[in-house]
Amino acid sequence: MVLQDLGRRINAAVNDLTRSATLDEKAFDGMIKEICNALVEADVNIKLVAGLRNSIKKTVNFKELAPGVNKKRIIQKAVFDELVKLVDPHNTPYQPKKGKSNVIMFVGLQGAGKTTTCTKLARWYQARGFKTALVCADTFRAGAFDQLKQNATKAKIPYYGSLTQTDPVIVAREGVDKFKKEKFEIIIVDTSGRHRQEQDLFDEMVQIQKAVSPHQTIMVLDSSIGQAAEAQSRAFKETADYGAIIITKTDGAAAGGGAISAVAATHTPIVFIGTGEHLLDLEKFNPESFVSKLLGMGDMAGLVEHVQSLKLDQKDTMKHIAEGQFTIRDLRDQFNNIMKMGPLSKMAGMIPGLSGMMGQMDDDEGSMKLKRMIYICDSMTAKELDSDGKIFVDQPSRMTRVAKGSGTSVREVEELLSQQKVMGGMAKKFKGGMQNMQKWGVWT
Ligand code: GDP
Repeated sequence: MVLQDLGRRINAAVNDLTRSATLDEKAFDGMIKEICNALVEADVNIKLVAGLRNSIKKTVNFKELAPGVNKKRIIQKAVFDELVKLVDPHNTPYQPKKGKSNVIMFVGLQGAGKTTTCTKLARWYQARGFKTALVCADTFRAGAFDQLKQNATKAKIPYYGSLTQTDPVIVAREGVDKFKKEKFEIIIVDTSGRHRQEQDLFDEMVQIQKAVSPHQTIMVLDSSIGQAAEAQSRAFKETADYGAIIITKTDGAAAGGGAISAVAATHTPIVFIGTGEHLLDLEKFNPESFVSKLLGMGDMAGLVEHVQSLKLDQKDTMKHIAEGQFTIRDLRDQFNNIMKMGPLSKMAGMIPGLSGMMGQMDDDEGSMKLKRMIYICDSMTAKELDSDGKIFVDQPSRMTRVAKGSGTSVREVEELLSQQKVMGGMAKKFKGGMQNMQKWGVWT
């Protein structure tokens, strides 16, 4: 992913400088130059890059730095703050409220990822307890309604659309009215992204906006659009005056800097980023977290948010840990929870220090390993599952039976048992200390 490369380059530039023996102005200028080159190569608008260079130079004024101050810390902070500024327009996006009907309208060019992202966003709100529905107001593209229907059905989200009505304004109005009456709290309207004439597309957007009075209009922007992002986002802004941006396909091979520049050009906040084709591949965007992750510093707040949103069932495990035990069944539940969280590499990006290590590891390999561990557990009897593993030490033939039954090896069964032993040891230490764990939120 090119954004990751950008992060690595910036990180390397800062680290090289702060580690070098001669931390002087010349070396400092070299670092800024390298950062700027990396940003320009990632398609960030050249004017923005020039602004960033000047700001960093102003903040870290070498001539005025008192001797003995911690230059390293000042430089790191200046770079971090300027990168945050690049993606933070200081404009708060609309926050949907519970208990009322919040209408959200999507705009953007065809292929940007609107229909996919509509469902992702609907699922995101649904997982947070909102009553959510989708409306397909794209009557231009044959198959658009079918696509939305399929996605919505998969995510178990109610939807509205028409195969016969050709006027998107009517479909949008009818859908929104219906879901408002039914007290839906999040109503997302997908619109068309293409017309025979560009002006027709813009006219249609305005008419739909008038018909459904959205509380928020979101523009969906493909991260691979490059330098064209600025002109496109300005054109949409003038017509549809959107209040938020979602950047899609940040998992792709294209440089994402163009889309980032759209934020500055239109003073509009990014609210989410799309990180893959799967329904769960949507991350809430926060400038500090984004830069933190970009620079390999992790995003603990994002991780806690993500884990909470999955509403994982931890009750039994937490009860066991409070009692100082941790059974093999607990271990299997935790493996299953990890599988639900999404690709391992994405999780690793959120955990400080881990992304570097995971950079080498293949997602498929990691998931396969977890799956094999789950197969092993599934081949155990209830008595074995609810044990602390000692039963296998006392009767090693059980290991052979389980390995055979799960299509794995005795070596892997042993691996699982030693993992369980480590967790069991930790549980003993945690006995009675639940408040501490709950403070972190991950476990509540
Ligand atoms: P629309 O024409 O704007 O409604 O775009 P679609 O929702 O049909 O998406 C176009 C293509 O982009 C589809 O193949 C999607 O699966 C894909 N897509 C959308 N978002 C993402 C993303 O975040 N990552 C990746 N890799 N693909 C995406």
